[in-house]
Amino acid sequence: MKCQSLNEFGKAVVGEERPDLTVTGTEVLLRVTANGVCHSDLHIREGCYNLGGGQKLSFADRGMKLPLVMGHEPVGMVLDAGDKAGELDRNKHFVVYPWQGCGECHQCKDGRENYCSAPRYVGMHIDGGYADQMKIPHPKYLFDIGDMAPEIAAPLACSGLTTYSALKKVQDTLAKSPVVIIGVGGLGLMAVGLVKAMGGLPPVVVDLDPVKREAALKAGASAAIDGAAEDAVAQVQAAVGGTGVQATIDLVGAESTASLAFNAVAKGGKMVIVGLFGGSTPWALPLIPVKAVTIMGSYVGSLVEFGELMDLAHKGLVPALPTKTYALDTANDILNELEDGNVVGRAVLTP
Ligand code: NAD
Ligand code: ZN
Repeated sequence: MKCQSLNEFGKAVVGEERPDLTVTGTEVLLRVTANGVCHSDLHIREGCYNLGGGQKLSFADRGMKLPLVMGHEPVGMVLDAGDKAGELDRNKHFVVYPWQGCGECHQCKDGRENYCSAPRYVGMHIDGGYADQMKIPHPKYLFDIGDMAPEIAAPLACSGLTTYSALKKVQDTLAKSPVVIIGVGGLGLMAVGLVKAMGGLPPVVVDLDPVKREAALKAGASAAIDGAAEDAVAQVQAAVGGTGVQATIDLVGAESTASLAFNAVAKGGKMVIVGLFGGSTPWALPLIPVKAVTIMGSYVGSLVEFGELMDLAHKGLVPALPTKTYALDTANDILNELEDGNVVGRAVLTP
């Protein structure tokens, strides 16, 4: 098999040839047909999150083992399966639910594998889709993509699910007041498309890059504001209008965006933080109760939520994210392009 392997944090991924994978029991072997390149892969390649104040959270200290084949937005076709995996259609493409847990803890037993404290996330803890083969532990993680193209279905596994789950946390506000989406890269453009599918008003978006703002307007945003403008908060509030800002989804998660969201949100409003660009909280504590703001984190989504999202996608309600496909062996160049802000929507590797 061919793969792109991360052998050292802070270094490029490198192309390797390895023996073909084998499967037993309930395991399923896939021929990867597409895999989206997420900004989280940049954090993994770097090996840490920026915690602000000069502090870092090191993935090595948290038990992430190298070498690792990244890639948590995989689509593939079944090549082989263990004797307990059951009958699987070998002519279909499946998108993989990558946020797999230990299966034993109370979170996993309650259907929140994405909150497992001993996670086995694809492309983070077990080898993922930057390869032409990968294996998953159980067929329950496979979802038929129907007539979607593999490169359109692949980003649903992270970009789609993460924004679906974040939007669900503010679903009660979506039809009453335009949600404010901060950062319209791979996640943000997907979120703009999903708001409509979830019965929401056209969202207001914020980004630093005029190209991304233009793409968001094309995808259905009602206004696109430059986050670097001195009066960005006032512009966001004006664009939302009469109800005040009831909900913000921060898909950047930097000090500047957290501050913008906090200053823009109305009393009693909700802020969901998703992005992992990093830093520390920029809010004064007394203002949290005074504004009665709810500040929530959101991390990917559950298997049940993925099923809901796939149902919406099969009904044709999830607009396709702009995607471009690239050869597997260009993975490191594509990661660099994403880091430099040159990707609109998602870049997808097609082995
Ligand atoms: P991306 O690189 O495709 O998009 C990021 C966007 O944010 C770009 O359009 C960029 O111009 C914009 N941006 C950057 N700094 C900004 C700022 N200060 N103000 C306004 N806009 C700014 O990234 P992505 O794949 O969409 O991922 C976004 C973030 O979400 C990453 O940190 C990623 O790791 C994280 N993420 C979190 C989860 C989760 O479950 N919490 C899941 C997936 C990704
Ligand atoms: Zn991701």
